[in-house]
Amino acid sequence: MTSHPDAIEAMERFVARIARFDPPDSSPVLSVELRSGRLRGRFELTERTAAALVQALATWSDPDDAGQCDHCGGRIGPDLGCRDCGHLNGIFGATVAHHAARVAARTED
Ligand SMILES: [Zn+2]
Repeated sequence: MTSHPDAIEAMERFVARIARFDPPDSSPVLSVELRSGRLRGRFELTERTAAALVQALATWSDPDDAGQCDHCGGRIGPDLGCRDCGHLNGIFGATVAHHAARVAARTED
């Protein structure tokens, strides 16, 4: 069985980081429960903390997500190559394509 105690600890730190800025009369508006094996964390979030959680979730980006292919809209890998069509994206891809075109032109001469 896999356990993820780090998520519960991370949530504790997240809530503690924001709670100190809550107005003194803040009351919980949302509860979040995390369970991992036998570990359990239940968090009562104030409006400010709930808003911070929503913002954190909305702005998170997957480190494996390098964006969409300029050519076909497919998923780009960490090497900036499209996993669907093989197109090299971004400035690196444009540089490689430009160099390849120059080499091809030289070979045709
Ligand atoms: Zn593509």
